[in-house]
Amino acid sequence: MDQLTAETLAAGNAGGFSQGSYAELPERFFQRADLVPVAAPKLIKLNRQLAEELGLDADFLASDEGLAVLAGNASPKGVQPLALAYAGHQFGQFVPQLGDGRALLIAEVVDRNGRRRDIQLKGSGRTRFSRGGDGRAALGPVLREYLVSEAMAALGIPTTRALAAVTTGEMVFRQPPQPGAIFARVAASHIRIGTFQYFAARSDREALKTLADYAIARHYPEAATQKKPYLAFLEAIVAAQARLVARWMLVGFIHGVMNTDNMSISGETIDYGPCAFMDAYHPGTVFSSIDAGGRYAYANQPRIAVWNLARLAETLLPLLAENDDEAVALAEDALRKFQAAYDGVFHAGLRRKLGLFTERSEDLALAGGLLETMAGNQADFTLVFRTLGEDLRAAAGEGATRSLFANPAEFDDWAKRWRDRLALEPEHDAGRQAAMNAINPKYIPRNHRVEQMIRAAVDQSDLGPFEELLSMLAKPFDEQPEMAAYADPPKMEERVLETFCGT
Ligand code: AMP
Ligand code: MG
Repeated sequence: MDQLTAETLAAGNAGGFSQGSYAELPERFFQRADLVPVAAPKLIKLNRQLAEELGLDADFLASDEGLAVLAGNASPKGVQPLALAYAGHQFGQFVPQLGDGRALLIAEVVDRNGRRRDIQLKGSGRTRFSRGGDGRAALGPVLREYLVSEAMAALGIPTTRALAAVTTGEMVFRQPPQPGAIFARVAASHIRIGTFQYFAARSDREALKTLADYAIARHYPEAATQKKPYLAFLEAIVAAQARLVARWMLVGFIHGVMNTDNMSISGETIDYGPCAFMDAYHPGTVFSSIDAGGRYAYANQPRIAVWNLARLAETLLPLLAENDDEAVALAEDALRKFQAAYDGVFHAGLRRKLGLFTERSEDLALAGGLLETMAGNQADFTLVFRTLGEDLRAAAGEGATRSLFANPAEFDDWAKRWRDRLALEPEHDAGRQAAMNAINPKYIPRNHRVEQMIRAAVDQSDLGPFEELLSMLAKPFDEQPEMAAYADPPKMEERVLETFCGT
């Protein structure tokens, strides 16, 4: 495909940066929104590698004209930005109209692999869906989303990507006031469970069918060839979400706001707000200041995914079968498949994290025993798995991992079982540590580091820590001796107990 250049942009659709397919859906799917220019945009980060993958010209994006596009001050010629309509359950409460209240879909591109992707600006100003909000985003949350989504991508977890971050030269009125920023995000699409709920809440069966057909064509084309395409579609989403959440659990990621409007049909992690990675392992870990009840705690995430998928299934009932009872039975069957899909990925991942190559029925109890011991000993989730790989060279009762436990003897008891289990597959000894290091990251975006990075950027206009974290997190599985301090968990006084949404 041709590179997108200034000329192709000016010419409109050439090069794949186009108005795109969503705009051809019925008018009630979106608002054709006007741009709300900002005073003094400044590019603070451009993801050149991603731009390249998208077939965009990074030099153009870094120019004044490109900056105007990334700041929402100008549209590519012939492209009308869209604010998408959606609804959603927020912390269990249904809100029939949410929508892009501070975001605009500014283009679709077909990337170098032939995949259609959305480019959206977040923080681009008020739209019809803004309700009481100002339509803007603050610098801190923009940098968090940039960093964490790129870290997730480097960990190999499906996610929206960060294309650019821009400061606006305006303040946003939060407590306290903060520099405004705009985040350019790339997604397989921005269709959410809440998009289906929007039309279901309006009993708009025709729109539901149109949306489902569109989402099938875009994300799950193989469903269209099945005898029951809408059932196959639902099953595919259930499987994608099961795989996704299992991957989160294996790295200790807590999304924080798993509302149905924040769950993508494509199976990508989307809408990073008060998200964080767990330090000390505890199933009840919650970071978000707005999640007082712990609804979206670490260990609840698989359950919540099923709950959200049940809301999706409800919207699809009219498409699943003529007969209501039959539709409900089909939907329930589809939802039941979550568990096996989740377990498949989660259990295989746990085995790999422990350095096991073969499968035995007692492996899950072994993994569960470690997690329980970690929970009882405030042991750091990421470090424990990483240092287990180093312990392979140490004698029993020695090694680095035991010191991560408040009571090392409890770890020793568990480690004896683990070593006995490893002894059953000696043929894999040679490759074991490398295999463990390829699934157990050394570097994650630790929350205290993310907060320190945000403080430096917001209080001192210092983007050094952001750049440093970003480059470190691009290689989460590699030993990076000069970055070793970033692998450490927070000291007592550095611990971040709550992460504010900071919208
Ligand atoms: P989020 O918490 O980012 O997932 O957003 C939830 C809903 O609130 C979406 O409909 C957003 O568009 C809307 N929203 C969040 N922040 C703002 C804001 N500053 N201005 C307008 N709408 C907002
Ligand atoms: Mg959202």
